[in-house]
Amino acid sequence: MAKGGQELVYCSLGGAGEIGMNLNLFGYGKPGEYKWIIVDIGVTFSDDNIPGIEVILPNPEFIANQKENLLGIVLTHAHEDHVGAIAHLWPMLECPIYATPFTAAIVKEKFKEKKINIGSYLKIVKLGGNVKLGAFDIDYVTLTHSILEPNGLAITTPEGVVLHTADWKIDEDPLIGEKTDVKKLTELGKKGVLAMVCDSTNIFNLGSSGSERLVRTGLLTVLEKMKNRIVITSFASNVARMETVFKVAEKIGRHVCLVGRSMNRIYELARQCNYLQDIKVPIDVRDSKKMPKNKMVFLCTGSQGEQRAALARIANGTHPDLHLEKDDNVIFSSRIIPGNEKRLYKIFNDFSKSEINVLSEENSMIHVSGHPAREDLKKMYSWIKPKILIPVHGEQRHMAEHINFAKEMGVKFPIKVSNGEIIRLAPGEPQVVDKVTWGRVYLDGKVLIDNDSQVLKERRNMAANGYMEITVLISKNGEIKNNPIITLKGIPLIEEDESEIEYDLEDVVMDTCKTFNLNNSKQEKNLIDTLKSNCRKLINDKSGKKPLVNINLVRF
Ligand SMILES: [Zn+2]
Ligand SMILES: [Zn+2]
Repeated sequence: MAKGGQELVYCSLGGAGEIGMNLNLFGYGKPGEYKWIIVDIGVTFSDDNIPGIEVILPNPEFIANQKENLLGIVLTHAHEDHVGAIAHLWPMLECPIYATPFTAAIVKEKFKEKKINIGSYLKIVKLGGNVKLGAFDIDYVTLTHSILEPNGLAITTPEGVVLHTADWKIDEDPLIGEKTDVKKLTELGKKGVLAMVCDSTNIFNLGSSGSERLVRTGLLTVLEKMKNRIVITSFASNVARMETVFKVAEKIGRHVCLVGRSMNRIYELARQCNYLQDIKVPIDVRDSKKMPKNKMVFLCTGSQGEQRAALARIANGTHPDLHLEKDDNVIFSSRIIPGNEKRLYKIFNDFSKSEINVLSEENSMIHVSGHPAREDLKKMYSWIKPKILIPVHGEQRHMAEHINFAKEMGVKFPIKVSNGEIIRLAPGEPQVVDKVTWGRVYLDGKVLIDNDSQVLKERRNMAANGYMEITVLISKNGEIKNNPIITLKGIPLIEEDESEIEYDLEDVVMDTCKTFNLNNSKQEKNLIDTLKSNCRKLINDKSGKKPLVNINLVRF
């Protein structure tokens, strides 16, 4: 054991075995006395299975409980799966945050929305810059991806260097920003890299992921042939893609209109950070109506079919400013993220029904991925030659395949990690040394709740089975006054039952109450439970539903 029993450990609290919600921890120190850094703190988006929940965050309990040992949060890039949780979880962590200018601008907005004054806790790092936090000497390494300012982190510690790649691919011509810093990566490899924590998203894709340049050429070929309106949808955060839309539109004599809140927000932030300086000013969506339809390109949010985003509203005809007609064109310059197929195909079908042309990556070269395919990965492995490989940013099947791939690349210790496992990277052979609390918390409106919260159980129950509330008024001398007040919500009934149900429930309430002494408060809980079960039984007999029931006993 070296250096007075100090060791270097890694733990993911989110992002291993799943795509999204990345939260990585690196620790250094004696066992049980580690000082930590967090790398990225993202969210994942909910599917329709959890009513009312859109955003899911990693449970930070393990690190929040020892925030005095937390040196800082280091952010790699501004995608939601890497920064989305920051403003929600920071109040539990209260440590400095490090980010390059564009990422910092996005993060600042998030704190502003939460009304948190982040002030000097947010520290801006220049591209290719360095941050020293305790035993961690962190170099930002410029990579290419599908957003401005994607960075890997070369983390030097007394036990060796870790390259945390975060999200990347190799783009020979990223259009905006620098190319991959191959020089730095090869230098790191030559000095020796203990471990690489690496993106697994596209491990099943052969070849390389391709350059944003290909999309610019592809979109020009497609757009110059088009008549009438052109609507393009893509991720707002892909600013190179946004610039492409502006450049291509200019070439074919059209104006660009940005539709949707995040598209306009990213445009403003990118401009503030000195990107998008030589493009024509976009036209306001309200003014676009005065323009001839063959003079416009609309760049819209909603490429994943998000219900409240611009594209879904255009598709269902509820967008206030943009209406499409026969022979207009809609282009999906994006990938269908697994899980979103159903709602996206609905949008495709809505447009097709109205004889609007739909183009997607299925039939044109109008999108490239931001994650490394196998040829990209081969290059990275040849530069870095890590001793240990930890695949992250993948479902179980991606991570398993990445392990096989790393073995082929000659990596001595490829390790499949699970969220919550603490892996000692050095000294000695890497191994799991502990397991800690991890999990998911949900953002429910403005409130963070546990995934086993009673609130969700009730909401699921109501959503599936409906709701019934009965209020019984009991006088001082233990008699029922007036009729019980009955409310039914979301319970199906056939017509004959509908007019009778309240009377039937009243009878059940009265009959049940007769069997109790209403003056005896010790019997109250029992009475409530019996009323619940008897009323629910009646509803179940009539409708086949077992609603959530609430009984109020009001004494006066
Ligand atoms: Zn990303
Ligand atoms: Zn990501």
